[in-house]
Amino acid sequence: MKNVNAYAAKSNDADLEPFDIERREILANDVKIEIDYCGVCHSDIHQVRNDWGNSKYPVVPGHEIIGHVTEVGKDVKNFKVGDLVGVGCMVDSCQECQSCKDDLEQYCENGMVATYNGPDKHLGGHTFGGYSEMIVVREKFVLKVPENLDTKAVAPLLCAGITTWSPLRQWNVKKGDKVGVVGLGGLGHMGVKFASALGAHTVMITTSPSKAEDAKRLGADEVLISKNEDEMKKHQGTFDFILNTVPVGHDTNPYVGLLKRDATMTLVGAIDEVDIHGGGLIMGRKRLAGSLIGGIKETQEMLDFCGEHNIVSDIEMIDIQNINEAYDRVVKSDVKYRFVIDMKSLKK
Ligand SMILES: [Zn+2]
Ligand SMILES: [Zn+2]
Repeated sequence: MKNVNAYAAKSNDADLEPFDIERREILANDVKIEIDYCGVCHSDIHQVRNDWGNSKYPVVPGHEIIGHVTEVGKDVKNFKVGDLVGVGCMVDSCQECQSCKDDLEQYCENGMVATYNGPDKHLGGHTFGGYSEMIVVREKFVLKVPENLDTKAVAPLLCAGITTWSPLRQWNVKKGDKVGVVGLGGLGHMGVKFASALGAHTVMITTSPSKAEDAKRLGADEVLISKNEDEMKKHQGTFDFILNTVPVGHDTNPYVGLLKRDATMTLVGAIDEVDIHGGGLIMGRKRLAGSLIGGIKETQEMLDFCGEHNIVSDIEMIDIQNINEAYDRVVKSDVKYRFVIDMKSLKK
């Protein structure tokens, strides 16, 4: 086992602070990664503050990891020392159930191992994430990062990117479709970039007119202010697909009204209660769905697409010493659109 510098929260009301963790010695199928950058996801904050009631302390968050390979196990085939790689929200799964066989490890029927706060099969206890110098990950869960992109801005693709990419692909968004993206934050800004790159007529649906200009810069063809009833009425029944990135429970009925017959709205943010009237779905055979990140194969496809289309996140870099302040700003939606930690700052 190796001692590694990290940042951890020791309880739900504690700030993150320097903390030593252990990483396993590499096994035959493992890749050892020196971490260069780690994105700050809203889930990190939920876990640190125990908002979902399942946090295990100390929490070392971080599941948008970019780094370089420094060592590989003897059976590793696809990576070598020096490769630029990424690790997202999962570091393992059973590899035997139907979901794993279908390349949908995120829905592993025996439970995928989350990058942090998951059960650590090797060392016992729970897993520690990317707010650290180094991580050891099973080869199957390591991703190749295209070399042509701005590396630090790739980090958020590992969670915010795949979370929005997977439903756009699953519901077959294509050229000419009218696609709505609800909510302009870390997830929403990637949803707009992807929907637009896939050729869809992309509409940013937001409560705040102040976001209109930025939405267009990100690739939106139109902006629909959801508080404006006249505008909402004009768009009734016209959308082929809606990606709903709102991070908390809300009234989904106005958005369902925007869907065409047989069209789907997919939730990727709200994991609590949402309001929905049956009639809104029944009249028009509409669908309300959900989607969780994406499988490893699909995550690689997303990264390759980003390499080809030169897509990255809009980010603001911070040192790890500023993480607590950054969390407060994320909660206030005061970031465009993702913080990324320069992990070199951990060595200061
Ligand atoms: Zn995340
Ligand atoms: Zn499985």
